[in-house]
Amino acid sequence: MSQYRVPPTPNNFHTWFKYSLGVSPDLKRAIDILIGNKRKFDAATNRDLFAMYVRADTGDDSDVNNFSQQLHSVMASAKQYLNVAIADNRSQMMAIGDIAERSEAGVDPAPLVENLLNELAKAVNRAAKLEARFAESTRELDAIRDSLSKSEERAKTDTLTGLPNRRALEEFFRKAQIAAMEKGEPLSVLLIDIDHFKKFNDSFGHGVGDQVLRLMASVLRERLRESDLPARYGGEELIAVLPGADLATCAAVAERIRRLISECRITRRSTQELLPSITVSIGVGQFQFGESMADLIERCDRALYLAKRNGRNRVVTEAELDREMAAS
Ligand code: GH3
Ligand code: MG
Ligand code: MG
Repeated sequence: MSQYRVPPTPNNFHTWFKYSLGVSPDLKRAIDILIGNKRKFDAATNRDLFAMYVRADTGDDSDVNNFSQQLHSVMASAKQYLNVAIADNRSQMMAIGDIAERSEAGVDPAPLVENLLNELAKAVNRAAKLEARFAESTRELDAIRDSLSKSEERAKTDTLTGLPNRRALEEFFRKAQIAAMEKGEPLSVLLIDIDHFKKFNDSFGHGVGDQVLRLMASVLRERLRESDLPARYGGEELIAVLPGADLATCAAVAERIRRLISECRITRRSTQELLPSITVSIGVGQFQFGESMADLIERCDRALYLAKRNGRNRVVTEAELDREMAAS
């Protein structure tokens, strides 16, 4: 930071600490480009870097403030050790200089050697203390890094279902979109909406409704591959991104998920009462190179709407939208 004249404020510490950890490729790229272009890290640039890559990623401002303060205090104590070490060193250099002068003046060498050894022993001792203190700072920084990555994880997870949330979905899709275009491979999305969920909630209570959402999430997690991403898109809408899958493959996966969910038997925990089965409607779409995630999801949403109109508990792909349009 001092090399690029970045003022040591808590926010800047946070930005540069994250940069040095290399946990955010986007932040790394942004700073490296600024350095490469010999740009100044002025107040506006520092503010933007923090807002774009630190606060936006961490989500919760209180976490950010917390980490910034912790970092600041570790850095401040490291700076203090260094200042003390530098001052000690200086006085030691003077003491050694003094011994050297006296030895040139022909003073008895025995006490001079004794003094020199003393000064060396002090130096070794100081170096050991300094090392121990830096080891302690390193441990503190490691702990901060761990909680930072946990907090980033939390900021990307939906608390009710434990699924990745919308922010995680957007991040995943951005990468999947680029990879699909680079490799020329398909990428598809399925959007799930629970049928008549309002009525279900009204009849059995919101808590039981939440249990259903968790069950959907576990079905999704089980049915998808490691490389796919299930996420909670909105209230009762779940979504899955399937890299490498074309429309037909994605529709087949959606169909399996739909059937599995309709076959689930849910009992009310408190009374063991068997609840009516839950069904879902699913809209499926395939990514067209160059389009935005919003455009793709909009087509999935229209397919989903068609599934609802055609009687629910079914999968509809965007291909059927075209057929529907041609027919009307
Ligand atoms: P449709 O078949 O047309 O989708 O009917 P629906 O009743 O599911 O549709 P609607 O959009 O009218 O209602 C969605 C319901 O989802 C309303 C809301 O109570 C419920 N819901 C949304 N988020 C949650 C949640 O987090 N927990 C629970 N239990 N219910 C939720
Ligand atoms: Mg809905
Ligand atoms: Mg619904």
